[in-house]
Amino acid sequence: MNAGTAGGRTQPVHRSAATGTSLDQHIDRYAQRTTGMRASAIRALFAVANRPEVVSLAGGMPFLRSLPLEALAVEASELVVQDGLTALQYGSGQGVPELREQICQVMALEGITAHPDDVMVTVGSQMALDLTTRIFIDPGDVILAEAPSYVGALGTFQSYQAQVVHVAMDDDGLIPEALVAAIDSCRASGRRIKLLYTIPNFHNPAGVTLSDARRARIAEICRVADIAILEDNPYGLLGFDDRLRRAIRADDADNVIYLGSFSKTFAPGLRVGWVLAPHAVREKLVLANESATLNPPVFNQMLISRYLSGFDWRGQIKAYQQTYAERRDTMLAALAEMMPEGTTWTTPDGGFYVWVTLPPGFDTAAMLPRAVTARVAYVPGTAFYADGLGTRQLRLSYCFPTPERITEGVRRLAGVIASELDV
Ligand code: PMP
Repeated sequence: MNAGTAGGRTQPVHRSAATGTSLDQHIDRYAQRTTGMRASAIRALFAVANRPEVVSLAGGMPFLRSLPLEALAVEASELVVQDGLTALQYGSGQGVPELREQICQVMALEGITAHPDDVMVTVGSQMALDLTTRIFIDPGDVILAEAPSYVGALGTFQSYQAQVVHVAMDDDGLIPEALVAAIDSCRASGRRIKLLYTIPNFHNPAGVTLSDARRARIAEICRVADIAILEDNPYGLLGFDDRLRRAIRADDADNVIYLGSFSKTFAPGLRVGWVLAPHAVREKLVLANESATLNPPVFNQMLISRYLSGFDWRGQIKAYQQTYAERRDTMLAALAEMMPEGTTWTTPDGGFYVWVTLPPGFDTAAMLPRAVTARVAYVPGTAFYADGLGTRQLRLSYCFPTPERITEGVRRLAGVIASELDV
């Protein structure tokens, strides 16, 4: 940062590390909504955290090594040769019809009955989050979200100037009584609530799952209060047992906008997700999708469609489940063995994440540079709150590192925590 003068006073000038040019140059031109867009303070540290000597328990990257890469390469090549004139062409703003039918079959595994006309394909479910927020939110509108909630959704909500109001959760997920209290308190202060954003299965970052009884209760509360539910379910098929976790959408087709994704069950690099919405909402979403991207990538959709019809994708999901269950076990065992007294954590029954709470007095954001020096990385809890809470929480992910690295990472983390306790 250099010093410059503006209006006779000395002002700091933010400069690009790469080019040295001023980053403040266009500052008076930006739209107001960009004030809600903030670079993550921890992003710079993650560049360091990605060095091989650092065990990263931070990212949510799926373990792609178990994919049948060579067979997929043959499939991709055949797609170009046999269907290239379609696959490489512009396509429908709503998505490839055959894939939308297959998506309905995938959702049927969670009890959802849906018509392909009500499905829209998106560039990952992140795009679906963006488009849904775009069509519903005016600045100042309230979105209710679990405390904590997915960092990428919070960023999207803030970029549309939504007010995020967090609702408490426990080991059974979002607490219905807390939801009622949040609705009452927002309405008492004259605020307009548009959506409840919830991740019912294997929550990111909390690692917990909403109980069946609460699903029905929460759907009812939202219906009565006239608040739409945005059900975000990228991890739903990655449970570690064979229990069916029925989507909220399965029993409430009119008031739920459901988001799904191939990122965790297949490959995030293809950037293909979807939204299932009541018919009228779906029409608005297609208009928004067209104005944002014209259409989702046809090649990637057709590749996934071939994968779903020609490969053992259920077997692949089973392989992912086994890998992640083993890694979850390793992480929980390492935490139980090494974490200091007073530390607690959740026990996920699927998905990628464990949510850790350190004893009072810890500041996990302040501790992160010391952890990275000790060659382990995590995500500090404050990233998952819109209101500054989460200082003594952190998220650990077990999806990507091998079991040996997970144990080593927890050992290093426990060492950092112990040395803070000593100070
Ligand atoms: N929702 C949740 C809860 C997530 O964890 C993620 C990815 N980390 C996404 C949405 C976005 O997923 P994608 O855009 O890759 O489908």
